Amino acid sequence: MHIGKLTISIDLELGWGNWDNISSYHVKNIKENERAIVKRLLLIFNRYEIKVTWAIVAALLDVKSSENMPGEQSLWYAPEVIQGILSSRVRHDMGSHGGRHRYFDEMSEQQCIEDLQFATYIHKKNGLALNSFVYPRNKVSRTYLLAHHGIRIYRGQNKAWHETIRNRNVHLGRVANMLDKMMPIAPDVVTPEYSEKLCNLPGSMLFFGRKGVRKFVNSKVMFSKLEKGLNSAISENAVFHLWFHPSNFWHDTEQQFEILERFIAKASEYSSLGKLEIKTMAEFA
Ligand SMILES: [Zn+2]
Repeated sequence: MHIGKLTISIDLELGWGNWDNISSYHVKNIKENERAIVKRLLLIFNRYEIKVTWAIVAALLDVKSSENMPGEQSLWYAPEVIQGILSSRVRHDMGSHGGRHRYFDEMSEQQCIEDLQFATYIHKKNGLALNSFVYPRNKVSRTYLLAHHGIRIYRGQNKAWHETIRNRNVHLGRVANMLDKMMPIAPDVVTPEYSEKLCNLPGSMLFFGRKGVRKFVNSKVMFSKLEKGLNSAISENAVFHLWFHPSNFWHDTEQQFEILERFIAKASEYSSLGKLEIKTMAEFA
C-alpha cells in the first residue's frame, strides 16, 4: 500500500520578515491581522489534531532586540503569540527561522554563527527544543553550521519546475511562476535527503496569498493544486511539504482559510484511511 506524507511548515516572523524594508502596509497588517490569523490557524490544527512546524524568528522572544527597531514594540516582540502556540492542545514542532531573520548568503561565517548562537540561546532560555530550521528567504547557505548548533533538519529550496527556469533566466522564470500559479498544475512532492547529521526536506509549494497577479488564481485552482499534492505524495510514497507565512492570509482572509481548512479536512480523511501520515519536520530528523 502507498502511504504519502504531509508536512506543513509556517514561517512566523511578524516585523522581522521585512526588517530591511518594512512599510506602512506591513505595519498595518501585522498590527491588525497577524495575531488573529495565528489564532485561527491553531484552532484549525486543534480541530483536526494536526501537528505542524512553526519556524519562529528568535528575536520575537527577546525584548532587547525590539528596542532597536522602528515603530511599536508589538511588531517585533510577541512572546504571547509563541505562548499561544505552546499552550495549544496539539504539540507542535517549534523550529527556528533564524535569530533576527538575517540572510545567510549575505553574512560572513562569523555572523551566521552569531545568529545561530542567538537562536539556540533563546530557544534554550524558553525551554524549546530546536531541531528544525527554515532559512530566512529560503537562502540556503552553510548548512554545516546548522548541525554544529544541534539542528537536525532544514527546509531546502523548492525544486519546482518554474524555479529551475528562474535559475537560468529571471524573466522567463517570472512568466513560468505565474503560469504555475494560475493553472491547476500539480506541485512537486519531495523526499527527505539525509546526510550524516542533517536532513534536508525541501518545500513543495508555498500556499501563496491572494495579492497582485495572484488574485486571478481562483480558489478552485488553488484547492486543486493542494489536492494534487496530496495525491502525488500518496501515489509516489513521497512528502507533500506545504509552507506559508501568516501574511499569506492577509488578503482575502476568509477565502484563504476556507481553502486551507478544506485541504486539512481532506488530509485528515486520508490519514484516517491509513493513506497519509502527517508529520512535522522534526519527526523526519
Ligand atoms: Zn521569513
